[in-house]
This record gives sequence, C-alpha cells and structure tokens, in this order.
Amino acid sequence: MFSRTFGCVRLVWNKTLAERHRAWHAEGKKTSYRETDAALTVWKKTEDLAFLSEVSSVPLQQTLRHQHTAFANFFVGRARYPRFKNRNARQSAHYARSAFRMRDGKLFVAKTSSPLRFVWTWDDVDVAALNPTTVVISRDPDGRWYVTFAVDAGAPEPLEEAGHAIGVDLGLKDFAVTSDGERIANPRMLERRARNLARYQRRMARCQRGSVNRRKAKRKVARAHRNARTGFLHRTSSALVRKADTIVIEDLNVSGMVKNRLLARSVSDAGWGEFRRQLEYKCERAGRRLVVIDRWYPSSKTCSSCGNLLAELSLSTRHWTCPRCRARHDRDINAAKNILAAGQAVARSGPGDACGAGVRRQGSALPQSAVKQETSPARARIPSL
Ligand SMILES: [Zn+2]
Repeated sequence: MFSRTFGCVRLVWNKTLAERHRAWHAEGKKTSYRETDAALTVWKKTEDLAFLSEVSSVPLQQTLRHQHTAFANFFVGRARYPRFKNRNARQSAHYARSAFRMRDGKLFVAKTSSPLRFVWTWDDVDVAALNPTTVVISRDPDGRWYVTFAVDAGAPEPLEEAGHAIGVDLGLKDFAVTSDGERIANPRMLERRARNLARYQRRMARCQRGSVNRRKAKRKVARAHRNARTGFLHRTSSALVRKADTIVIEDLNVSGMVKNRLLARSVSDAGWGEFRRQLEYKCERAGRRLVVIDRWYPSSKTCSSCGNLLAELSLSTRHWTCPRCRARHDRDINAAKNILAAGQAVARSGPGDACGAGVRRQGSALPQSAVKQETSPARARIPSL
C-alpha cells in the first residue's frame, strides 16, 4: 500500500508541476493551491487516473501543499525551482492527523487494515504517550523504510556551560585538527568501504540500465557509502558540541570543491557539508555557538603566536618556524588556533562590527558577504592568541 501511495504521490507531484510550469511559461500565470486541488479531484474521475482513489487522499493533498510552499520559496528567491520526483530517489508520504491514529503506541494508517509495526529508536520517550501531528512514511534509495513522527515540543534543554572554545581545521589527511591539538583521523573504514564500493560499481556497470538488478545494486552502493561515514560524523560532531561553548569552523566551499574532479571523491567522502549541518543543529539544540569564518582567511599562513603573516607556505610543509617570534608550528594545529582566534574576535564584536565583516555567526539568516569581493578580509584586525 505504501509503495502504491509513493507512486501516486510522485505522479500527482510531477503532473501538477508540469501543469504549473506550462501555465507559468505559456500564460505567465501563477497557480494556487486550490486550483491544483481541484485538478486532482478531476483526475480521480478520469478512467486513466481512477487508481488515485485507491490510496489515502491525505498524502496526495500534502504533496500539493508542499509544492505550493516550494513555489512560494522559489518566487521569493529562497529556493531553487522545484524539480520532478524520480522513482529511484527517496520516496515519502505525509499523513496529517486525519489520516492516522495512535493508540497505546500502535500506529494505524489510513487504507491499511492492521497496525503498522515499527522499531522505536528513542529510549527516553514513551511511545504510548506520543501525540504526533504528522506521520511520514518514507523509503530510502537503499530500500530501508522509516516512520517519522512530527510532534509539538518545547525548546530543548541547553547543555551546561563548558567554559571552553575550540577552533576546527578540516582536512583530508586528518578529518579534523582542533586548536586543542587533537587530531581526528579520517576513519580507515572509508578506504575499505571504497573498495567495496568499487566492486558494487563494477557490478552495477554490468547491469542493464533501468533493470531491477541495477536498482538493487544502486541501493547497495548508497548503503555502503552512507554507513561508512554517518556514524563517524555523528560521534565527532557530538563530542565537539559537548566539549565547547563556542566552535569555530571555516566556511569551506564544499560544492565548489566537488566540482573539481580530482578532489571530488575525497571531499564528498569526507562529508564536510554533512558535518557542518550536524554541528549547526546540535549547537542550536544545546545552546552552543557555532561561528563560521570566511574561507579566504589565511589560517595556515598566519603565526598563531605573534600574528606574523607568511608570504607563502607550500601545501607539503607540515611544520614551520615563525621567522619573527621563532615559534615552532604544526601546520594544522596552528591553523586551528587561528580559526579559533578569528571566531572569538567575531563572537566578541558581533556581526555588525567591522571585525565581523566577512564572517558570520550561526543563526543569522544570510551570510554577510560584504567583504567577499575584497582580497584581504579583515586580517589586520584579528588578534593573535
Ligand atoms: Zn610568530
């Protein structure tokens, strides 16, 4: 039933999107939610699309609402133009309150005859006391099924103050090096998984395009890939959030780097984008502050002891001595210390101040890009430790 519902949700989304697209480009006309809902009612009455009535109407209406929101976001410049849904991507169906029932921790979903069995993963929450506003049934490309409960909840409890701040330098050799001098190695499993991945990919290449085997092989690839890094990223981000009140990272242009094919695999394997996303929401949840500094800040070439800026530092140089104060530096730890100092300068001065230019604080809606065009961002104002 859920597979069939996914198919109907996808069809309604794609057909509505095509219709909207046509109305906009041919007639310059925006389509309202009401119009799309009326069109859905008409489709259900046609012979070809009568099967849409076999699934719950709620997920179909929800997908119309989501598309309406997606367009609203697009029109105000907040999001990209909505895209067609693909049958090989993640599938989902959203059930609002009228389409499911929770009783004693059992979930009954519309158009299904028995309670839906699921594994509960939140040990500290009593599932029987749960009062969800929405239930989302989804299936990942690797074939795993999820039930997600949306509930109204109060603000999360902030963590106790740690009295500590950490700068983090992300890299490929080590996943991260902190201003405390801690090195977090890139897990070896990534390399082992890469070998598995190559095997799956070879197997996939032999499968015919669009065949069931190819889809299965693709799911395996997706699974091998994700398992390899998700756990590692969660452990690493959680440990940092526990340790420090303020965490400073560089704003790495991950999508830009991934376009460089030589770096692409290492960078997307490293999962920096996902790591930052985790830090963002975990910091917010715990009442911590995440500071993201401009990626053009010369964190490697600046001496963290005296602030001296080197003219050049080759990528292969792992250790160096400052010509001015004779301090001996490990390249990555020095960079992490500079990142921390830059972030703390911002945290003290606030985003409106000159020191904050080119650097943004977590929580502001848009990056302050005023300095992005300049070649040397606020470097003179960043104090040494
Ligand atoms: Zn120095």
